[in-house]
Amino acid sequence: MDSTVSFKKYRFANTMLEYTAAGMAIFDAQELRLLEANTPYIDFVAAIHTSQDEPPFAPGASLLDCQDSEGGRRIVSICREVIASKQPHHVKEEMNVNALGEITYWSWTLTPILDEQGNVTHIVQTLNDVTAQVEARQQAEEARQQLSHANEVLEKERKRLEVVEAVARWVRETLDSARIGQIAMDIIETHFDTITACIHTAHPEQRAFKLLCASRPHDFAPEGLKLMDYMPYEQLGLTKGVLTQHEPIVVEDLQIAAEEGRLNWNSPLVRLGTRGYVCVPLWFGDQLEGTIVASFRSPVSSSGPEVHALVGMGTHIAAALAHARLHATIEKERTRLRAVLDQLPEGILIAETSGGAISYANPAAAQILGISTEEITCIPLHRHSWLRTGIETTREGRPLPPWNFIAIRALSGETFTGKEATVMQPDGRRIVTLASCAPLYSERGLMTGAVIVLQDVTAQKTLEQHKNEFFSIANHELRTPITVIQGFSEILQLRTSQENSFDKLTLYAITNIVEQSHHLTHLIEEMLDISRIEQTQFKLDYTPCNLLSLLKHVFDSQSSVSRLHRFTFQLEGVQETDIIPTYLDEQRIVQVFNNLIGNAIKYSARDSTIEIGLKHAAERSQEVLIWIKDEGIGIAAEDIPHIFKRFHRARNVDRSHSGFGIGLYLVKEVVTQHRGRVWVDSCEGEGSTFYVTLPLAASI
Ligand code: ADP
Repeated sequence: MDSTVSFKKYRFANTMLEYTAAGMAIFDAQELRLLEANTPYIDFVAAIHTSQDEPPFAPGASLLDCQDSEGGRRIVSICREVIASKQPHHVKEEMNVNALGEITYWSWTLTPILDEQGNVTHIVQTLNDVTAQVEARQQAEEARQQLSHANEVLEKERKRLEVVEAVARWVRETLDSARIGQIAMDIIETHFDTITACIHTAHPEQRAFKLLCASRPHDFAPEGLKLMDYMPYEQLGLTKGVLTQHEPIVVEDLQIAAEEGRLNWNSPLVRLGTRGYVCVPLWFGDQLEGTIVASFRSPVSSSGPEVHALVGMGTHIAAALAHARLHATIEKERTRLRAVLDQLPEGILIAETSGGAISYANPAAAQILGISTEEITCIPLHRHSWLRTGIETTREGRPLPPWNFIAIRALSGETFTGKEATVMQPDGRRIVTLASCAPLYSERGLMTGAVIVLQDVTAQKTLEQHKNEFFSIANHELRTPITVIQGFSEILQLRTSQENSFDKLTLYAITNIVEQSHHLTHLIEEMLDISRIEQTQFKLDYTPCNLLSLLKHVFDSQSSVSRLHRFTFQLEGVQETDIIPTYLDEQRIVQVFNNLIGNAIKYSARDSTIEIGLKHAAERSQEVLIWIKDEGIGIAAEDIPHIFKRFHRARNVDRSHSGFGIGLYLVKEVVTQHRGRVWVDSCEGEGSTFYVTLPLAASI
């Protein structure tokens, strides 16, 4: 049989075979001898030729001669199989390492060629270099693996975010710490394979953690339960670090920790067979709010998803717990404040800027307004009944405003203290109150409302009215007899100066009667002045006046009458002949100076100096300043704020200092009505200086 195959009938077959990328060769089926091969095949055979010493496998060589190598034996056996089965053999991919260590991949096929009788006469081998495809596939595989790893990481991160997001979503709106804890527990149980999990809240004042909520197995050791419920800082073992550190405490495997002696075998968690353990401190800023602890059936890693998720959750839980804690503190304070406000005898109301609604009224307010607290809060401020005609009047004679008018002004930003106002109760009763109002501002400075304090002074007002009436009646009744006594005693005194028939005792008695009746008249005058002031009938009669000559006149008369003290007259920046133009009620201003000089005489020892002075007020050029300075008993610091009040006498005055405590009250009233000011500088035991300022007139 001709062992060569003729391709003659194919004119370009050989050329085509030469230029194809695939290697092709033909073997005879009997001796497996290489009959013909194209160049790619020859190159391949050369390339896979691993040994330099062996001759290359060239046309004419038989595969049967290559059987000492494993590769040779394999190819012969495959060829025999192909011949026997008459079926082609295909190898999809085969790696080849050449003598230089270079790796290539090939796919090859052995195809039987049959004669007309169906016998295999030849075997055609085709070879394809699939290195590029294999490498591409390998790279794709590698990329796929990387992708799947990235997916795994992503999936873990997604799960972590899901847990954190779930916690954030649920705890955000909750102000109840127990509920926050329960939400966190539910989420931990759903997402992790935990054995126990718990949240503790920190109580720095007790230096202990208290259990907020926990999930634990039924057979959890009772001593473990006790330990979990209340954990003094001093007794913290594994979790001691949370008091200072912000990072979680992670024990990757409690069992190993116990084996290594880092943990006690008797620890309840170890006995439960717990492996991984994580404790996350819950810090909100600088404040440790508590801890979240979870123990797992499997070991955990510090960088594992459990730790990351718990840390992420921890941030939200800490914030929610801090929020809840602050809310509870505010609520507690609010309740306490409410209790205090409810107990106050003054009526307290809080009005809101929006619509003037009253959001709070205490029982005293309800009593003053004559309606229940519930009703008060239903009626906006401007709808509360108010008086159309002012029956009550202020000291200045103006009608008293209704209380809610003052409150409405407070809502526009004004502040009032002790302003008299009336309340009209539903039954028509009128209540006089002292109303104090102030606007309320939010932290950002926005006005949110106003607080109104009402003090019922109806009783005092009535009493005062009765007292004033009594005063004025009594004064009028006293004035007539005392004028008579004074008149007759002065007639008698005149007679004593004309006749010598009076004995010493009579003379002494007459002088005393004159003096005391003068004193009494003065007192009655002062009392009358007070009731005039109370009843707003204290009228001043202003005329142009040279204040300097007026003061000098008072000084001369006082210094000539009271010879027991040294009097000095001081002028600063002013000449004695100067005119100090003022517009005032001369009589009343003389009364002011007399009162002040009279006090200086009364409250200082004989022979001490009393200085009366005048100058232009330094800080206000339109004012003149007068001072009366003594070296007397002085006034204690705690008395000074009250010295100008009615009937107030300092503690250091005794029975030897006659008086009622009216003089300075009148002084202040007169000076204030003149648009002047009066004050005192004094030190107990060292003397006092009373200052009076009065406004200057343009000219007189
Ligand atoms: P009276 O002198 O009648 O008590 P005043 O109203 O004039 O009433 O004075 C009120 C109080 O002020 C006096 O009781 C006294 O305690 C104190 N006081 C007034 N002037 C002086 C003064 N020059 N030195 C010390 N204390 C004074």
